[in-house]
Order: sequence, then structure tokens, then C-alpha cells
Amino acid sequence: MKDTYSTDDENHKMPGKGISTLSVHAGEERFRYADSITTPIVQTSTYAFKNTEHIDAYTRRGEAHFEYGRYGNPTEKVAQDRLSAICGAEDCVVFGSGMSAITTTILALVKSKDHIVITDDAYKKTLEFCSAYLQRFGVDCTIVPFGDYEALEKAIRPETRFIFSESPTNPYLNIFDLERLRDLAKRYNLLTLIDSTFSTPFNQCPFDFGVDIVLHSATKYLAGHNDILAGAVLGKKELIEEIRALHKAIGGVIDPHCSYLLLRGLKTFALRMEQQNRSGLEVARFLENHPRIKRVYYPGLESHPQHEIAKAQMTGFGSVVSFDIDGDLDDAKVFLDKLKLCYIAPSLGGVETLITHPALVSYYTITREERYALGITDSLLRLAVGVENACDIISDLDQALQ
Ligand SMILES: *Cc1c(COP(=O)(O)O)cnc(C)c1O
Repeated sequence: MKDTYSTDDENHKMPGKGISTLSVHAGEERFRYADSITTPIVQTSTYAFKNTEHIDAYTRRGEAHFEYGRYGNPTEKVAQDRLSAICGAEDCVVFGSGMSAITTTILALVKSKDHIVITDDAYKKTLEFCSAYLQRFGVDCTIVPFGDYEALEKAIRPETRFIFSESPTNPYLNIFDLERLRDLAKRYNLLTLIDSTFSTPFNQCPFDFGVDIVLHSATKYLAGHNDILAGAVLGKKELIEEIRALHKAIGGVIDPHCSYLLLRGLKTFALRMEQQNRSGLEVARFLENHPRIKRVYYPGLESHPQHEIAKAQMTGFGSVVSFDIDGDLDDAKVFLDKLKLCYIAPSLGGVETLITHPALVSYYTITREERYALGITDSLLRLAVGVENACDIISDLDQALQ
């Protein structure tokens, strides 16, 4: 039984074409409904069989057909194939959010009595899901300090199913050494999962390091316009099929219109990344040289502790720049309130420059001592540079720092 039209047509992946070309064209038929130059939004929740013979052809003889919205949609299908092509993956499933992609993937891979290992500066909700919710189903989780590869190896048990990490991480832009991950995974025969949201397929290809499953919050750079939520999981067909099967039951689907917006956002993905990589570095350098900034965290800076690893496994460093302002919570607030171009908002990777104060926004429920133990200081800010002119972003930051 096939639920999509063109799963096996490799031409849609446009092998050998550049990433800008793939971002515009991959996943599509050359000519579409009404010869529309854009991918049509197939706004439907269900699909009609022409007659009972058509049902038999679909169920018994494997004829391609969409059956029901939760199991697939033509607009969504193009988004999946385009992302597979851009990321260099055999297969992809898209979801209604990044968290839906992450939780469905993890649930598809574990069973009771399994054990998983995750690094401690993973996305907060991912950590929460692994440490709090998985326990309920008898799945044990060890959280190891990021960058401590000895602790990571020690955490591995016979029942360990996978290692989950991110690179770069949030908010300190730490870089996971994917060569060491490959080595561990090989020696212990483990699956490896990398949330590659911050690096994007423009800057890093975890599959080159033997990573089995790559996850993205497509809400961020991939869609790129701060207007939708979406997620994606990519990897070998066999593994992705297991995740797709559970996705159909859990149902965190992306709707057709959102799929269209993801496709539309992707068309400028490579263009945006070029500019955001450039502006990210420019803004990071400006901040590093500013007397009112204590410390800047950006993997493209020579001062970043894992700069060498970053250079070895990435081709660009993105546009998230974290920094400590010289002063206390009130100084950070004064700075934020003076900004005129940058918006105070969570999220990253979109065209608008956003800035967030992790202590106030994401860690407000815990005490100051607990936050400091996690490394989240009152003076820490995370800037997500958009596609405005870098000089305008810099002058906004500069006037707010006066
Ligand atoms: C935003 C984000 C997520 C969650 O994605 P949503 O689309 O918001 O559900 C997961 N991981 C990372 C690294 C993120 O930045």
C-alpha cells in the first residue's frame, strides 16, 4: 500500500545540483496542476477513490494514492522530498513542530527498559521530555555534561539505544565533536541522533560523520520567516519508515498551507544563510570588541573554545550570537528596552533580528542559584541575527549599549 505518488522517483531529488537549486526546485514534478509555477496547496483532509476497483488497486496492488490527511498530502510530500534533497538524506518526515519531530522520533526508537543518553545543554523541552516523560514508560535517561566525552562513554550500557545531542547548542553555541560521536557509536553499536537546527544543512552535514538521524526545528532557518512552526526528521529510509509509522498514529502533522509556507521559505534558504552567516560573524566581532560586553559566544570567533572543531565540521557558523553584558539584570533590561530595530522575542533563524534574555524568558520558574548552576546568568543575552543590513543591526545594538 503506497500513500504517496512519487516516493521512489529519485529525479525529484535532483542529484548533483547545488543547494540553491535544490532549495527552489527539489521535490517537485516539472509541470504541475494548471502548469502553476508554484507548488499548489492541496487544502484537503481526505482523498476520493474513483470506485471500488480503485480501492483494490490501492490496497492490494500498491497503486499510489493519498488516502487521508494524517497519512500524507501532496504539498507536504514536496516539502519532505525537498528537505531530503537539501540535507542529503534518503528520506524525511515533516511535522507540525520541531518538538513533534523530536518526541515522535524518540518514541519510535525506544521501548520499556531501554536506556538513552542525552547531553545536558540540549533544547530545554527535549531534555524535559527525555528526563521526565520517558521515565513513565520505563525508559531510563542519563544526562551527561556537554563536552565530557569520558562521561558520555561511561554512561553507555548494554541497553543503551541511542545518543542524542545537538550542535551548536543553545544558548552557548557549544560544538559537539561529531568525529568522536562517530567513533563511540561504532564501538558500541549505537544509533546517533543530532538536532542540527542551529547549524542547518547549509553549514553542516551530520550524515558525513555517520550520524543516523538528523532532526530540525524547521520553524527556524529552514522556513526562515518567523511565521510557521514545523519540524523534520531525516535519515535512512528504513529508520525513517519506523518514525513515519508512529507519526501516523500520534498525528503531529503539518497542514497543507503550512507545508506551502515551508516550501516558499526554503526557496531563499541558501541566500538567507549566506547573508546570516556573514552578518552573524560581523555582529559577533562588533560585540567582542565592545567595552560593555564581557564575553561573546559564537563558534566563528577564534575565542570560542571549540572554534577548531567548528571549523572542521561546519562551513559557516549561523547567526545566533550569545553574549554577557557587563552588569546585572537591570543593566540587561535597560539595554533590551533601548533597542529599536531588534525585537525582544524568542526563536531564531528568521528574517527579523530577535533577541532573548534566557534568564527572564526560559528560566524564570527556577531560582537564581539554580539558573547559575545551569550557567544561565542574569547578564546573558541571545541574539538571533536576521537578514536586515548588518550595519543597521550593529548601530541598533551600539545605541542601546550607550
Ligand atoms: C526551536 C527548537 C526546537 C523546537 O522546535 P519547535 O519548532 O519550536 O517545536 C528544538 N530544538 C532546537 C535546537 C530548537 O531551536
